[in-house]
Amino acid sequence: MEQRYFNKEIETMPRGELSALQSEKLRKQVRHVYDSVPYYRGLMDEKGLTPEDIGGIEDLHKLPFISKSDLRETYPYGMLAVPLSDCVRIQSTSGTTGKRVIAYYTQHDIDLWEECCARAIVAAGGSKDDVVQVCYGYGLFTGGPGLNGGSHKVGCLTLPMSSGNTDRQIQFMMDLKSTIICCTPSYAAYIGESLKEKGYKPEDNSLKAGIFGAEPWTEEMRRDIEKSLGIKAYDIYGLTESSGPGVAFECSEQKGMHINEDHFIAEIIDPDTGEVLPDGEKGELVFTSLDKEAFPLLRYRTRDICVLDRTPCSCGRTHVRMAKPMGRSDDMLIIRGVNVFPSQIETVLINEGYAPNYRIEVDRVNNSDTLDVYVELSPDQFTDTVGAITAMEKKLSAAITGILGIHPAVHLVAPKSIERSEGKAKRVVDKRKLHD
Ligand code: ADP
Ligand code: ZN
Repeated sequence: MEQRYFNKEIETMPRGELSALQSEKLRKQVRHVYDSVPYYRGLMDEKGLTPEDIGGIEDLHKLPFISKSDLRETYPYGMLAVPLSDCVRIQSTSGTTGKRVIAYYTQHDIDLWEECCARAIVAAGGSKDDVVQVCYGYGLFTGGPGLNGGSHKVGCLTLPMSSGNTDRQIQFMMDLKSTIICCTPSYAAYIGESLKEKGYKPEDNSLKAGIFGAEPWTEEMRRDIEKSLGIKAYDIYGLTESSGPGVAFECSEQKGMHINEDHFIAEIIDPDTGEVLPDGEKGELVFTSLDKEAFPLLRYRTRDICVLDRTPCSCGRTHVRMAKPMGRSDDMLIIRGVNVFPSQIETVLINEGYAPNYRIEVDRVNNSDTLDVYVELSPDQFTDTVGAITAMEKKLSAAITGILGIHPAVHLVAPKSIERSEGKAKRVVDKRKLHD
């Protein structure tokens, strides 16, 4: 397959040159942050570090980390590294794990972010001949604005739909013949389900690709969405703190997401000790942004659990690949001492033939953790025979036990009884937190 790139020189740059470029940018960035962000200068001073100590990427590990709590402490402008009058935009996190964090951008920062999204769109087969339907939320959330800007840069005809109003999404998708759709995977699954309900077959739409991210999703969910929309589904990753979506994106090989390493250095650390782990080991993803002017975070701890792969990719891109994040360290549930990621449960459900409409409830009763998994039946699975339902529940429960090693109570519920998501899905309710 012929490969197309948005920025071939950078995306296929030989590793040696790329490292030299990163080192040069890092030296400048550390100086910029040290001179303009007193908070970070304080962290460096505590370690006895000056910008001269950072000669290149080999010295990155010496720098202090930044975490979400630093951003909360310095809210709103304590991390600002340029005069506020040079900033042109503010975006904010979705607040999935607590108080929202804000990020500020100069025009240069917006341009580099949008270029990252443009690379993702081209890698998914996009060109100026495409009609890109952006149904990530617009507004403070970075999903809509990021993909919108990327789509413009590629020259695609852009539909700034935002999320929600699914009937209108479908009408425009059909009437305007959208060829690429961008949204969260849970919303993509919902749109697929709605198309089916309206009597459309997957081949009735003009879509060829989808660019889905902003939340964890499994390979099983990918296959489900690809089938229901009749497309190839690509993953895209990002976070507001590093700009937004587009920090990393999938190429046609779909064996991990290429990180835009000319703008971001990625490290994997042991979340407990902070020690940098070798490639291939699982740990917490840490990003250093190399050219952002207004909000240039150095060694930002994402809490996303992930693995890096530096082996060459047959698409020709030389940038390191990150695996699908399993979820954040704070999404990990510890149930009766066992570490459980919601994505593990999702894998079992889809493999057992259920749609990804589920809710996980964890509680503590008589000092013991309980795990309840509510799974929706599809209309064709639905039966009102109690015996049949109990048998299905038992089978699913056994399948989950086989993977997790702990026994959940599975409850099959009526079609449409679990709320659909137009943005990031909220699938876990941890009631133990209420007791603490
Ligand atoms: P919030 O932290 O409030 O959700 P953001 O909207 O900035 O704020 O979301 C960034 C987070 O979303 C990432 O840190 C990661 O946990 C998750 N995320 C983004 N893209 C993906 C993806 N493709 N796969 C898994 N998780 C993702
Ligand atoms: Zn590749």
